[in-house]
Amino acid sequence: MSSAILEPSRPAKRRRSLEALLAPLERMAAVSGSLLKRSAGWFDVDGEDYELPRYAFHGPQGGGDPLRIGIFAAIHGDEPEGAAGLISFVQQLVRNPAIAQGYVLFLYPVCNPTGYEDGSRSSRRGRDLNREFWNNTHEPEVLLLQDEISTHGFHGLIALHSDDTSHGLYGFVSGATLTKNLLEPALKASEQFLPRNDDAVIDGFNARNGIIRQGYRGILKAPPKVHPRPFEIVFETPQHAPLFLQEKALVLALHSILNEYRKIISYAANI
Ligand SMILES: [Zn+2]
Repeated sequence: MSSAILEPSRPAKRRRSLEALLAPLERMAAVSGSLLKRSAGWFDVDGEDYELPRYAFHGPQGGGDPLRIGIFAAIHGDEPEGAAGLISFVQQLVRNPAIAQGYVLFLYPVCNPTGYEDGSRSSRRGRDLNREFWNNTHEPEVLLLQDEISTHGFHGLIALHSDDTSHGLYGFVSGATLTKNLLEPALKASEQFLPRNDDAVIDGFNARNGIIRQGYRGILKAPPKVHPRPFEIVFETPQHAPLFLQEKALVLALHSILNEYRKIISYAANI
């Protein structure tokens, strides 16, 4: 979540390939009965059609109604590490679906497709999409994501970012008060692969043990008037660390969040 840097869009020939990025998900969706491709919609940028890709992973049934979690990556187009981590996580889910027992996971691997193509933080329209939520925005990606968030009524939202100014893992918590009880174990689990950022101030915010309780306005989150609040986690990896370590850290973090939330919910159901 470092500060915005405006970058010009890449010439069409030198764009990064969304198709190549999503190919592993497409292959898995073609053979797995649990992973479904369901587009979140299309939008137009300068006469070109873009899809907002969405996949849903249906875990084995748990005790009650499935818990719905939204996982969002690459809303900053120059942070592809989150998308790579999410894809690694889905590879694990397909091999071991029990990780998602009791859940339906709605997966948004590239929330900023044009920024991903261009390698830029902002969209091709020059907007930092992670400052536009619930703000009467006209940005088509944000309108589609807001629709998704409103329609599915998520129990939890997890946004994956990578920070080129951080030497370690950290995250933001908001929404439900239990959120910090999800982020702390997630950081602890992922510390197996990368250090935690223990600085007192991270990204301009006060932090404790890598956890920040404030945040920017307009970030991807549940609608302002929704109660009870879902848990909302922004998970940040240090962008300069080797990619495979960021991927492994993200896989462990996501696994941990699902485990801990399941425990909290089943405990609450039994009291
Ligand atoms: Zn970011």
